Amino acid sequence: MTRLADMSLEELRALERELEREFSLQQGNRLSLDLTRGKPAPDQLELSAGLETAINGNYKASDGTDTRNYGGLRGIPEARSLGAEILDVSAEQVICWGNSSLGLMYLCAELAMNSGLWGDERRWRNHPAPKILTPVPGYDRHFTLSANLGLEMVNVPMDDAGPDMASIEALVRDDASIKGIWCVPKFSNPTGCSYSDERVTALARLPSLAAADDFVVFWDNAYAVHDFEFPRAPLAAIGALAEKAGTSDHVLQFASTSKITLASGGIAFLAGSEPVLRVIEQRLNVSSVGPDKVNQLRHARFLHQRLEAHMAEHARLLKPKFDLVQRVLTEELAELDIATWTVPGGGYFVSLDTRPGLAKKVGELAKSTGLSLTPAGATYPHGRDPNDSNLRIAPSFATLPDLMTAMEVFVLCLKLASARAEIATKSTHRSST
Ligand code: PLP
Repeated sequence: MTRLADMSLEELRALERELEREFSLQQGNRLSLDLTRGKPAPDQLELSAGLETAINGNYKASDGTDTRNYGGLRGIPEARSLGAEILDVSAEQVICWGNSSLGLMYLCAELAMNSGLWGDERRWRNHPAPKILTPVPGYDRHFTLSANLGLEMVNVPMDDAGPDMASIEALVRDDASIKGIWCVPKFSNPTGCSYSDERVTALARLPSLAAADDFVVFWDNAYAVHDFEFPRAPLAAIGALAEKAGTSDHVLQFASTSKITLASGGIAFLAGSEPVLRVIEQRLNVSSVGPDKVNQLRHARFLHQRLEAHMAEHARLLKPKFDLVQRVLTEELAELDIATWTVPGGGYFVSLDTRPGLAKKVGELAKSTGLSLTPAGATYPHGRDPNDSNLRIAPSFATLPDLMTAMEVFVLCLKLASARAEIATKSTHRSST
């Protein structure tokens, strides 16, 4: 195979005909395949069957709390310890609340916006047009959440080691309307990259450089323990670094067991400094008389001293799917040189960049065969990818045979869209020369 760019117009047309033939065959197969969201597969959910028997009639938490009753706004001690293990902080810095870290992120961002996180007069809404930094490509729900609160999003580029700190520092230094940044520091959604020690250190320091005195780093560590190989790859501890930098009141960390045990049936954690936790606790107290501590207890017992072993079981099921994705992409695309993609060591996604202007077309072609992809653009605020090139592949939910078919269809659509674009370019070039 040659690079697509090196093919003659005649070779390209022959390739297009061959791809179109294959494409019609796939359309005739009436497929129904879905690579849209990073959901755990049924066999992964089965790994947590032991949750059912973890209580076994004993509802008492380690501090004697009867978990069946009201109260305990910060969560029971053993659940907070589990959150501390995941987030690499101490248990006193953790609130265990609800089933969704995204819900906690919303709670904190909304508080920062309207009531303040520090028990004083600081509120983002004091500024007429508050903004938040969005490293891209990123997680679509961070964007939806920000847009919903009326935050303007300012994109910053990412590379393999995390967001580009030089542009971030330049932005926050001079602009007091920039109030925070979204970070997914390990196996980022969608690139799968993990932040280097230098970037974590720089992000911990960031609130002290920011012109805004109410700047918040939202550290969404959704994939903190979701490695494919063990022992886990380390991530610098932003909590400790923030303490050193004197920015602890401006760094909020989040995680959950959504992709450890049950997606939407797990428990969620946030970590922050004591003064900020107090403000958050007061807010929680307005809307609830206590979290579901029975769920906390069964999770803490089920995962006690076996978190890594449990995650290794997930990896055993997930890694072959990610290997398959890499195999198909490499075999089918590498020589043509029509896309670049990431090779994550964990997490739930692979991020692929087509040539500019083709991501939407690939999505449309895939849809017409019955393959659903995360909509092109979803990895950018407001669904607007300026290059129309980024696509997120979420291989976790499909079975291996379905994933194989889905990836075959995916690369077929990508090749077809790329061949057509190259033909268009070369035809224009030929007619103008
Ligand atoms: N954060 C990131 C980066 C995610 O990818 C996801 C789910 O895909 C979540 C948060 C959602 O987490 P939760 O289920 O705890 O709300």
